[in-house]
Amino acid sequence: MNLYEYQARELLESFGVPTAQGRVATTPAEAREAAEAFGGTVVVKAQVHTGGRGKAGGVKVVHSPEEAENAAAKILGMDIKGHTVHKVMVAQGVDIAEEYYFSLLLDRTNRSYLALCSTEGGVDIETLAEEHPDKLARVSVDPLVGVDEAKAREIADSAGFTGDVAYRVVPVLQKLWRAYHDSDATLVEVNPLVRTAGGEILALDAKVTLDANAEFRHNDYPDPDQSDGDAGELEAIAREHDLNYVKLDGSVGVIGNGAGLVMASLDVVAAAGKLYGNQKPANFLDIGGGASQEVMETSLKLVLSDRQVRSVFINVFGGITACDVVAKGIVGALAVLGRDANVPIVVRLDGNNVDEGRRILSDFQHPLVTVMGSMDAAAHRAAALAQAH
Ligand code: GDP
Ligand code: MN
Repeated sequence: MNLYEYQARELLESFGVPTAQGRVATTPAEAREAAEAFGGTVVVKAQVHTGGRGKAGGVKVVHSPEEAENAAAKILGMDIKGHTVHKVMVAQGVDIAEEYYFSLLLDRTNRSYLALCSTEGGVDIETLAEEHPDKLARVSVDPLVGVDEAKAREIADSAGFTGDVAYRVVPVLQKLWRAYHDSDATLVEVNPLVRTAGGEILALDAKVTLDANAEFRHNDYPDPDQSDGDAGELEAIAREHDLNYVKLDGSVGVIGNGAGLVMASLDVVAAAGKLYGNQKPANFLDIGGGASQEVMETSLKLVLSDRQVRSVFINVFGGITACDVVAKGIVGALAVLGRDANVPIVVRLDGNNVDEGRRILSDFQHPLVTVMGSMDAAAHRAAALAQAH
């Protein structure tokens, strides 16, 4: 469950993490009022579940209530990577001396937590990790100990903080850990963590993912309030239909049967996608054993309602549910969806009764459907189509 920045900010603040004050606005007039209340420089920031808002024009530093109103008028309604902006946060302007990076995440492979920290924040962290891996400290955090003072020092040291700045960063890292741990988060990412001209350390942007499975332990989990056609909304629809769906950030929708096969599908799409303008899987969707027409229909509808999706890869291995049943499911689903099916669909069928399944699909002659013989070829085709579409 992803939080909007303003929700993440409130959560961090409740754990004593220093942040810049902020107020939510849904109209330009409200943004103006907020700017008047704060006075001086404010920052108008799009509230959407995606990063890189700055680059997309969704973060504007302004110097008067009029400018705040104009900035909000531009940002509200904007589309940022397929997310419509319905809210902005007006935040008190901060005089930034330096921008840093800090995150805490779940390290499933090592069954522990991982802290990432850099004195070069504000930038795209994936790029930093790739181009200057030496500038991104990775420190493992023992789940039973957490980030105590010694661990916070170790993290700050590894990132290259020294002197007074290190001294000020350490307690903030400890508070961020408390927020991460006590709220059952799976991710807390602060980019940038800044040092102000006055020497204060502030979390200026925050991304928090809470573990929806832990919700029962928290009366105060924020209302996910997902309304921008994004992950939360899609995942809620999936839950309603008992579909095992996880929204990802790519362009190739993936539908498969069996968690292992779907995971493998994500891997081949990601690998093939590198050759086609870096296309990535848009989602994980395991339709399980029964690939009936009804399940196929809701699955396709769900995947197609993700506005980031440019092609769909259906990867089914016929077992108890044979390939001909799956093929009929696809045909029936497309008949019902009609014009709502509007991106190319690549199908790879194998297993029980495969010949009959392929025959049904080729007789169907749907202009958007391509049947491929192998999983690899299908992933390549789906990635190529996503790039072209
Ligand atoms: P993101 O692009 O979605 O990660 O949005 P951020 O909240 O990280 O904002 C992007 C950039 O805007 C930051 O890295 C800062 O450089 C700048 N920014 C954000 N808030 C302020 C502020 O209060 N003052 C100034 N001067 N710059 C800010
Ligand atoms: Mn940021």
